[in-house]
Amino acid sequence: MKKRTVLFPGKGRKPEDIMSYIGRLKQNDARWDTGKMFGFVYYPESPAAEVLKAVSQLYFFENALNPNLFSSIVHLENQTVSMVADLLHGNEDVAGNITLGGTESIFLALKAARDRNRRLHTEITVPEVILPVSVHPAFHKAAHCLGFKTVVLPLSADFKADVSQLSGLLTKNTILIVGSAPSYAHGMIDPIEEMGQFAYQNKLLFHVDACLGGFMLPFAEELGYPIPPFDFRVQGVTSISADFHKFGYGAKGSSVVLYRNRELRKDQLFAFSRWPGGIFGSPTLMGTRSGGPVAAAWTILHLLGRQGYLEMTRKTLEGTDRLKNGIHTIPGLNLVGNPLTSIFSFTSTLNDIFMISEEMESKGWVFDRIAQPEAIHLIVTMLNLAHIDEFLSDLQTATATAGKKKLKKTTSLLSRKVVNKMMDLFPGKAQSLIGTMAADAFKKSGTGNEKGSATFYGIAASRDNKSDIDAMILDILDKTYS
Ligand SMILES: *Cc1c(COP(=O)(O)O)cnc(C)c1O
Repeated sequence: MKKRTVLFPGKGRKPEDIMSYIGRLKQNDARWDTGKMFGFVYYPESPAAEVLKAVSQLYFFENALNPNLFSSIVHLENQTVSMVADLLHGNEDVAGNITLGGTESIFLALKAARDRNRRLHTEITVPEVILPVSVHPAFHKAAHCLGFKTVVLPLSADFKADVSQLSGLLTKNTILIVGSAPSYAHGMIDPIEEMGQFAYQNKLLFHVDACLGGFMLPFAEELGYPIPPFDFRVQGVTSISADFHKFGYGAKGSSVVLYRNRELRKDQLFAFSRWPGGIFGSPTLMGTRSGGPVAAAWTILHLLGRQGYLEMTRKTLEGTDRLKNGIHTIPGLNLVGNPLTSIFSFTSTLNDIFMISEEMESKGWVFDRIAQPEAIHLIVTMLNLAHIDEFLSDLQTATATAGKKKLKKTTSLLSRKVVNKMMDLFPGKAQSLIGTMAADAFKKSGTGNEKGSATFYGIAASRDNKSDIDAMILDILDKTYS
């Protein structure tokens, strides 16, 4: 047994020491203020950023758990929910809550659906939810925790949920379907109107995941982009999630879940009065929670207003169009689908795209990769707008470099094959090997040091046996938090 080296501190430390310790640690973090990070950080710029911090501070020690004690938080939450309900074309009946994030909003929407089913349809013991392939993993996480059976809906060639296959997947146990507006992976908006019609006709609940798009699509539509209706205007939509901490430009730890009416929201709420500690009730998943993110959400809506969001969306989409056009001019690079917002992915027909991403990361760019198809994934925010030409010029070089390293490309494809084979033959050994590689790739990401990441991402994307990859990721997580 290795001896524990970090022990509970004895004497207290000076605040200056603590600040300088954390300050030094933070220097190893990925830089977002360079404008070279896509997604992850949504920065509303000065002075809004300072105001958000200031209102968050106002609620640093307060507790949103008890609505009677800190009624200002309830007031701000109810007003915020109402403003978003208005934005998403809900009527007076729409009800909802602020949560800590998209995952919690999604969890609650599934819990409400499950418990409603238990109340009204006792004959269904294992409820089924139909999830498009491209849906965010938070739905699988929630379904896993809540005892749903997940039924996966394939995508059409345009990377949208294939509605024509819905009826084939419907069983007597189906209670809920989900669509994304847009999906994280491809930035595509599922055919929400058709799905809504299907849900309505079959008396199913229908959740629209607008975690990414909730604070962009309404403004893009107003600016004249051809955004199809995705919100409460669509008959059949029963709940929607939207994240303040993404394009809402709010504080981290804030999202909203909305239901078409309070009757649908009822099963989200929880009460327990048999507790010796007294009566207990809570609207969301968390008990004790901060009022800070709530106050920040209220604040950012008021600071920017419709006009501010329109302006930010206009700039972001103009920048995105410039970026997309530039990518088109580089030989071999193609967009995945035809996404309308600032979330999109691109592939390469000529080179290993993960080698291109490795080159780009070594120049300080930070972004995600997706696996199906293998592609570089960009979420363009306000932070990136001044750096689009720089990105394109680096991309041109990176593509050329990856092309010149043809041999290396073959090696990377070959090593993929070898490792894949090894994982079949010697699962333990190969997994620990690739686990080390992966841990390395993750550790370095954003520091311009990710040489070798291409092989790892290549293997993870191309391996058929995904349970091997899952096991490896669990192992990495376990080691990361030890
Ligand atoms: C980010 C995201 C989520 C999950 O939200 P978290 O706030 O990270 O929990 C769900 N759906 C989509 C489309 C997302 O982009």
